[in-house]
Amino acid sequence: MSNFSADKISSVLSLKGVGPRVAEKLSKLGIETIHDVLFHLPYRYEDRTKIVAIGALRPGMSAVVEGYVEYTEVAFTRKGKNRRMLLCHLSDGTGSLLMRFFHFNKQQQERLSKGVRLRCYGDVRFGSTSVEIIHPETQIISDLETQLEDSLTPLYPSSEGVHQSLLRKISLQAVNFLEAGNYLQELLPDNILEKYKMPLLSDAIRYLHRPPPEADQSSLASGQHPAMQRLAFEELLAQHLSLLLIRNQVNKQNSIVIHSENKIISDFIDCLPYRLTDAQHRVIDIILKDLENTKPMMRLVQGDVGSGKTVVAAISCLKAIEAGYQAVMMAPTEILAEQHYQSFTSWFQSLGINVVWLSGKIKGKAREHVLEQIDSGQAKMVIGTHALFQKDVNFKSLALIVIDEQHRFGVHQRLALREKGVQGKNTPHQLIMTATPIPRSLAMTAYADLDYSVIDELPPGRTVIKTAVLSDDKRAEVIESVRKSSKDGNQIYWVCTLIEESEAIQCQAAEDACVLLQALLPELKVGLVHGRMHVKDKQQTMQLFKEGAIDLLVATTVIEVGLDVPNATLMIIENAERLGLAQLHQLRGRVGRGSDASHCLLMYKKPLGEQAKQRLSIMREYNSGFDIARKDLELRGPGEVLGTRQTGEMEFRIADILRDEYMIDDVKKVAMEMLSNHSERVPLIIRRWLGKSDKYGEVG
Ligand code: ADP
Ligand code: MG
Repeated sequence: MSNFSADKISSVLSLKGVGPRVAEKLSKLGIETIHDVLFHLPYRYEDRTKIVAIGALRPGMSAVVEGYVEYTEVAFTRKGKNRRMLLCHLSDGTGSLLMRFFHFNKQQQERLSKGVRLRCYGDVRFGSTSVEIIHPETQIISDLETQLEDSLTPLYPSSEGVHQSLLRKISLQAVNFLEAGNYLQELLPDNILEKYKMPLLSDAIRYLHRPPPEADQSSLASGQHPAMQRLAFEELLAQHLSLLLIRNQVNKQNSIVIHSENKIISDFIDCLPYRLTDAQHRVIDIILKDLENTKPMMRLVQGDVGSGKTVVAAISCLKAIEAGYQAVMMAPTEILAEQHYQSFTSWFQSLGINVVWLSGKIKGKAREHVLEQIDSGQAKMVIGTHALFQKDVNFKSLALIVIDEQHRFGVHQRLALREKGVQGKNTPHQLIMTATPIPRSLAMTAYADLDYSVIDELPPGRTVIKTAVLSDDKRAEVIESVRKSSKDGNQIYWVCTLIEESEAIQCQAAEDACVLLQALLPELKVGLVHGRMHVKDKQQTMQLFKEGAIDLLVATTVIEVGLDVPNATLMIIENAERLGLAQLHQLRGRVGRGSDASHCLLMYKKPLGEQAKQRLSIMREYNSGFDIARKDLELRGPGEVLGTRQTGEMEFRIADILRDEYMIDDVKKVAMEMLSNHSERVPLIIRRWLGKSDKYGEVG
């Protein structure tokens, strides 16, 4: 019925000048098809469309010059040094230009003889007597080949063994394909192109590969040229559409409708030692409504470190449990799961709710026993690490899955988890909690398959954490602050960060630090936790720290997320310059959880690079995760933020979240219109932009 078909995909082998060996080199650049060639865009252009008079040359310009060779000589770079160079003086009546060659042969030398008419291209710089160009490209002008380029010359991202001339040759052929026929079908409807004044895709691509001489080079370089924006728009649209389709699929599934009076919930809230914040109330109300829906809830709750997400999770679980179902909460680390187990037990025991705990390290009889309780439905609340979801774990009536601190997972992991949770015909509701600040634009693109709520308020009485940055030769002073803080009745974290790649070495470093600190601070009780310790020992140490029986806890980054010891008010982070801002923010969030003033000391090793310096000062100046993420984004660009690069979640070919944020509202509107009026084009757009990645699965 429709006239739309997928983009033609033909191998680069069908291009002139590309044989198997060249094709292999191109594939290293991600170029395998003509389609790839078209989307492999220049990063810069050279203007070889006009000849510049030598008298008008200025240092910093790249220019084509034409003139006659006045004379050519061989000189030596410096007295006594036997390094030869070829100097060729060119003049065009308006001035004289020196061309300097360090690598040359006899032939070249003879070619550049007096009186020859020459065209050259290169970067102009100051010389000692005149302007000069080092190693220009040169061409002797015969009457046959005197044509100048008629468009700007593209420079492509390249890699070893792939010359610009090859990339230019194949891009020209690919652009000619575009010209000849409908190689790339226009998938945006006319009314949308008109409304947003966008050029056709093929026109935009052709423009970017061969811009006319008068093109605005600065807007091309910054990506703000309408041709670039046209591509970025379509890419963002494709990304958004793919997540909406995932979303639609989830909506086709059924879930358990959880009816309950919420009686236990209101009693529970009344018994809490504090009042919930308005933000907590708001998010809880939304979740409780979601759970009464026939469609599975898919909700992401973002709340800065310390905003009180755990109690929100507990209340959500209570709803499922009150209606007779099971709920599970998963945490990324053993330590955090153990802490949740303790909180939930203390909250739920008096309500007669059986809480069990399961981790990868629980084995044998103990494990069997827990599995039995889960299987029989006796265990209403199950807490554990991700190891929880193994084949042998069967729930009797699972209605809600809570995933805590899920900031390290991308779209594909979310999908996999959802699959595993399916129980018979019903997909359980899912609640994902993260402290990772997600700018609105990222939330829209990276999490469009989820609903999204923010706990945008901290419990009252929290004080700003004062952060200082100091070099590690101030260690003696730092030790003194630890001594003083402990004397005042506070507890302290000392974090040894990953200096070496190996976990073993990191743990060793923490062990050494522990011994050293104990020697320097004999009056303090010093404890140690790291990833290689036995679960039992870890638990015991954490428990002692919680109870206040340990004053100073030396730890690796295993304590990064979630831990909650309100009396800990000082944190020292060693080698802070090695950590990303998101991780520093998480770590620092272990203090400032009570109403006492808290401090964080970021220690670094000299010398401190410019980037690292800027990052640490962001930590000093800002306390809110949102502000830090925003600054991070500015400093590093979106691909690097939030660790999304590792998950491959946010890799755009053309779009740039910061630069293109303004178009996101339009992208959303157009996506809706495409889905309702042009649905046959939707899978084609997605395939065009995301076709290579398998993470979106079947989109059709
Ligand atoms: P996070 O959002 O980082 O997971 P937690 O759930 O661990 O935060 O809560 C941090 C601390 O704040 C805990 O000690 C918790 O008991 C406390 N808390 C949570 N909600 C409130 C509230 N409304 N008022 C006061 N304290 C609260
Ligand atoms: Mg938490």
